[in-house]
Amino acid sequence: MPVQIIETTNITSENKCDYCSALCCSYITQELGTLRTMAEFDTLLWQVAHKDIHVFKDDNGWYLLSMTRCEFVLPDNRCGIYETRPLICREHSFDACEKDVPINEGCQHYFTQFDELDAYCRKRFKTWDQRIEKFEAQRNN
Ligand code: SF4
Ligand code: SF4
Repeated sequence: MPVQIIETTNITSENKCDYCSALCCSYITQELGTLRTMAEFDTLLWQVAHKDIHVFKDDNGWYLLSMTRCEFVLPDNRCGIYETRPLICREHSFDACEKDVPINEGCQHYFTQFDELDAYCRKRFKTWDQRIEKFEAQRNN
């Protein structure tokens, strides 16, 4: 089977979407804001334990990220509802997008696995490992 070689030297900010697999249409995020307490991070741990759920933090706080492709992406990676696409799609910047800097490289923390976030929480909270015993002790009183 012949191998297709894609010429990438002529990619510009104007045409780069033509060379992209619609990365920006392949996930959704939900802003969580500032998280401070162990209980909040424990909930985050539960969330990241789910398949295709990631969590990350940038200058605006924490976010949930769900790796799920929009049902309107066409086979050629274009938008199937371009004229009526939601506002958030219209606001998305082409200048500095996921094709230039993947989200996991442009944020302060990015976790895809329970164990990774658990290790982060253990460093962040001295009593992280005691939280479960404490919870069970209180529940049994
Ligand atoms: S805006 Fe960026 S991520 Fe979205 S399709 Fe175009 S190049 Fe890809
Ligand atoms: S509505 Fe269109 S632009 Fe918006 S995420 Fe879906 S395919 Fe992409």
